[in-house]
Amino acid sequence: MNIESLLKYQKVDEELFKVEQKLANSPYKKKANELASIAKKAQIKSTELEAEAEKLISEIEDLKNKFRTNKAKADEMTAKDIEKMSIEELDSLNALKSKILSNLNVLEKMLQKSAESINHILAEFNKTKKLYDEARTQYAVCKKKIDEDTKALEPEKEKIKKQLASLEGEVDSTLLAEYKKKRNDNIFPVIVPLENDNFCGRCRMELPKVAISRIKEKGVITCEHCKRFVYKK
Ligand SMILES: [Zn+2]
Repeated sequence: MNIESLLKYQKVDEELFKVEQKLANSPYKKKANELASIAKKAQIKSTELEAEAEKLISEIEDLKNKFRTNKAKADEMTAKDIEKMSIEELDSLNALKSKILSNLNVLEKMLQKSAESINHILAEFNKTKKLYDEARTQYAVCKKKIDEDTKALEPEKEKIKKQLASLEGEVDSTLLAEYKKKRNDNIFPVIVPLENDNFCGRCRMELPKVAISRIKEKGVITCEHCKRFVYKK
């Protein structure tokens, strides 16, 4: 089979590939990917902080309830008429009272610590939000640059695509369909020469003798390793 037309097609296609590579390797694209990753991480962190805050708020509510209960008990004791109490009763009341006061003291400290934690979470949350907002803003700038570059290269791409379309008719349709499939899988060059009579011209893998013997009849064989078409010069 004559594969000259396919080689001619690939030569033009190489120009299109170069343009595509230029866009794919744009520094803005790399930066945009980094920023998207930063924004995503910030979003996850925000969700985690929210969950932490929620847990802490419920703990604070719990502490406040305990504090109120102990405070009510303390007030109740203070209101008791100690005139009619025996010494033993008075002792036991005082012991209970001091226990409750110590409880209140501990609870107060715990509440204070929780308040500090909440403040810390809030500060972290604000920091994360700022990071997220900054990443989003910078991402938008990068995205705009990428879109501009893409648009600027569009006429060139269209021109090459037209050239390719005009060459398509000369290429065997089955071969062309397979070529396009490989090309879509980001394989380029798609067709490479056989090297030193035995090896794939791209990945240097040794090709089976049986396969090589069929190049003449089929025009091309497929390298099992890199999936490229291999032809004989
Ligand atoms: Zn190969």
